Amino acid sequence: MLNKDKNNHAPADLTEGTQTISTLSSKVDLTHIDTWVFDLDNTLYSWELDLFAQVDQKMGEFIGRQLQLPSKQAKALQKEYYRTYGTTLRGLMLKHGLDPEPFLEYVHNIDLGSVEKDRELNALLSELPGRKLVFTNGSLGHAERVTAALGIDHHFESIFDVSAAGYVPKHESEVFDDFCEHAELIPQSSVMFDDISLNLLHPHASGMTTVLVRTEIDWSAQSELTDGNDHIHHETDDLVEFLRRIEHSLSIARSAAGPECDVED
Ligand SMILES: [Mg+2]
Repeated sequence: MLNKDKNNHAPADLTEGTQTISTLSSKVDLTHIDTWVFDLDNTLYSWELDLFAQVDQKMGEFIGRQLQLPSKQAKALQKEYYRTYGTTLRGLMLKHGLDPEPFLEYVHNIDLGSVEKDRELNALLSELPGRKLVFTNGSLGHAERVTAALGIDHHFESIFDVSAAGYVPKHESEVFDDFCEHAELIPQSSVMFDDISLNLLHPHASGMTTVLVRTEIDWSAQSELTDGNDHIHHETDDLVEFLRRIEHSLSIARSAAGPECDVED
C-alpha cells in the first residue's frame, strides 16, 4: 500500500527487530553498480504529489489554445500523440510544426508548493557509491527546479533532458545511445529507475539493471506497448523504501569487506 503523506515514506524502524523482517526482507544486491540513472517525473518524487498531473493538465490547455480546440478534444489529441509518438510534444512537432521551447516553458510552469525537502531520499542518495544522473523527457529547467525543491539537486552530475535528446522521446534507441555516449556510461555497472516500463526496454537490452517505480496511473497509456515485463529486474511502489534495501545490502557488503585501514606497515 502506498503511503499517502507527502515525501513521507514508510518508516524504516517501526519496531526494533521488525525492520529486517519486513522492510528489508527482500534484499536488493546492487553492489556492482557505480552509475545510478534516475528518471525525474513520478520517479524521484511520488506520483501522489500531483506534480505531473499539473504538467498533464497544462499540456491539454496549451493544445486547446494553440489548435483552437475545445478542452475535451485537446485532451484526446494529447493522449493520442503520447501513445503514437512517445511524447505529446513529439506529436505536436511532427504534425503541427510546433516550436518546442514555448510549449516546454508553459507546461513546466507549475506550482511546486506541495514539494517538501525529502531528507531521507537525500541521505540515501548520499550513500550510493558512484555517479548519479537524471535522464528525463522533461526540460532541464523543470528538472533543476524539482530536484532543488526536493533538496537533492546537488547529487546529480548531469541532467540529460528532452532538448539534449533533440526532442525525441527517451525510449527511442537513438536517444538512449546518445545518452550513454554523453554520460560515458557502462551499462553493466549502471542501473536505471523509471516509472514507465517502455523507457526500460533499451536499457535492459544494453545490459543495464532496470527498476520500475510503479504508479497507480498509466499517464502514458503505453503499458500495452511492452511485451510483458521481462525487461524489468526490480519493481517498487516506493523509491525510498527500495533505496533503503539497497543501502542495507551495501552496508552488509562493506561489513564483509572488513574495516578500512590506512596504517602503513
Ligand atoms: Mg517519469
